[in-house]
Amino acid sequence: MTYVISEACIGSMDRSCVEVCPVDCIYEAEQLLVIHPGECIDCGACVPECPVDAIYPEGELPLDQAFFAGLGPMLADGVEAIDAAVRAHLDGRGARDRSGVGADEP
Ligand code: SF4
Ligand code: SF4
Repeated sequence: MTYVISEACIGSMDRSCVEVCPVDCIYEAEQLLVIHPGECIDCGACVPECPVDAIYPEGELPLDQAFFAGLGPMLADGVEAIDAAVRAHLDGRGARDRSGVGADEP
């Protein structure tokens, strides 16, 4: 199992989770942070630090957030792959308004 950062991180990205992660397994993508599933030791330390309650144990991820569980494994392909997938996901849902600051669309 691993922990997963969900949609609520988008627009926040305050990095509180990064500060407390003992194994530095949280990586920054364009619009949100992503936990590396192979490096996360399931300690749960990041969960209470998140001001928007974006972090879940994978098994407790709400069904409508299932997309975000797929991002961690994509770290193997680089952050660019994640950025493209997140953009496509948000565009598909018409959720551009939530994409946050500094995320210029091409
Ligand atoms: S559960 Fe622990 S190891 Fe995994 S991302 Fe959170 S703080 Fe890091
Ligand atoms: S603490 Fe929560 S909102 Fe902040 S960067 Fe981490 S997951 Fe995103």
